[in-house]
Amino acid sequence: MTNTTVLISGAGVAGAALGHYLHRDGYDVTVVERAPGLRGSGYAVDFRGAAFDVLDELGILDEIRGHDTAMRGTTVVDADGAEIGQLPAETFAGELEVPKPQLTQILHRLTEPELTYIFDDSITTLTQQDGGVAVEFEQGTPRTFDLVVGADGLFSKTRRLAFGPHEEALRHLGMSGAGFTADNVLGLDHRGVLQTGDGTAIYAFSAADADKMSVSLSFATDAPTLDRRPRAEQEQALKEAFAGAGWIAPELLKAMSAADDFYFSSSSQVHLDTWSTGRVVLVGDAGYCAAPTAGMGTSQALIGARTLARALSAADGDHATAFTAYEAELRPYVTENQVKGQEGAAAFGSRDQ
Ligand SMILES: Cc1cc2nc3c(=O)[nH]c(=O)nc-3n(C[C@H](O)[C@H](O)[C@H](O)COP(=O)(O)OP(=O)(O)OC[C@H]3O[C@@H](n4cnc5c(N)ncnc54)[C@H](O)[C@@H]3O)c2cc1C
Repeated sequence: MTNTTVLISGAGVAGAALGHYLHRDGYDVTVVERAPGLRGSGYAVDFRGAAFDVLDELGILDEIRGHDTAMRGTTVVDADGAEIGQLPAETFAGELEVPKPQLTQILHRLTEPELTYIFDDSITTLTQQDGGVAVEFEQGTPRTFDLVVGADGLFSKTRRLAFGPHEEALRHLGMSGAGFTADNVLGLDHRGVLQTGDGTAIYAFSAADADKMSVSLSFATDAPTLDRRPRAEQEQALKEAFAGAGWIAPELLKAMSAADDFYFSSSSQVHLDTWSTGRVVLVGDAGYCAAPTAGMGTSQALIGARTLARALSAADGDHATAFTAYEAELRPYVTENQVKGQEGAAAFGSRDQ
């Protein structure tokens, strides 16, 4: 087999899953993760379709099922909070939904003995050479790897270094939002509630912890780079978007400011003409994010990782052949998911750009 040392940037869903497959196939895999450790809180993610086969192959499907949020559906309410409809659990929770930190922890536990993990570091330069990629890190000693995989999410550093600036790859869907935990003032019990207004949407649900609910406040915006601004600016944008909104909006805005797990994200997709350049390849959100509104990001990351690993295995490590096959097989699936992401954003009242 050719090309045996691999650097994966990003210890998220795609990075860990790919690392497991590559280790199984005889690769020596190093994973560099920017965060100092695994995140303990965050939103829930769901699985659909062939992602179940991947979880099964990884041997973690039963453990993942143990963290099922077991959602029973979502009540749609009007501007005053009165019920106007019902959505089935699958709309937001797919076929199975778990908190993302649990998924990441399970994947990490699976792969920790197999891969060399380096936390709290990041690549700073990538130089493609005939026989490998010379990599420099913020902290670590420079090293040359046969292959480098960017599994470092929407704002992939690998993509920026090897493919070009974020602006060339990111396509904002005209909507952004914040997520945080609040007291379960709505008394939700394994249920969600959704209110869509004029370019705004409130979604809240409660699952494992009956005292708390996860809240997401989304709004139409033409400012795609808000997700790289300070929290105060992001909160201000939300307060302006929800100014005058009734029901529990004022209470939620207060809870948002007090939350210690506040996060902000823009609904953006990644569109690239090709997912590889030389010995560098992208997997998951880094290469082809479909946006949270698709509800497919986690499944896509898992399936992307397996497709890339299988292509490398079939090509006996010949990266050029493998990368072409990976992309040919996965692109139709990604295109389908990205259309879902655009439709999802449009349904929330945003302006599709
Ligand atoms: C608010 C929100 C809600 C979502 N809801 C859903 C949902 O319901 N269902 C669903 O399927 N998907 C959902 N998603 C999307 C889903 O989380 C992603 O699509 C999925 O996690 C992609 O996996 P990934 O491995 O590509 O990226 P990630 O899981 O994001 O992992 C990327 C990793 O790279 C690391 N990293 C970043 N920069 C660097 C760097 N410079 N160096 C090293 N490491 C770096 C990050 O810290 C992270 O660990 C949601 C996303 C958001 C933001």
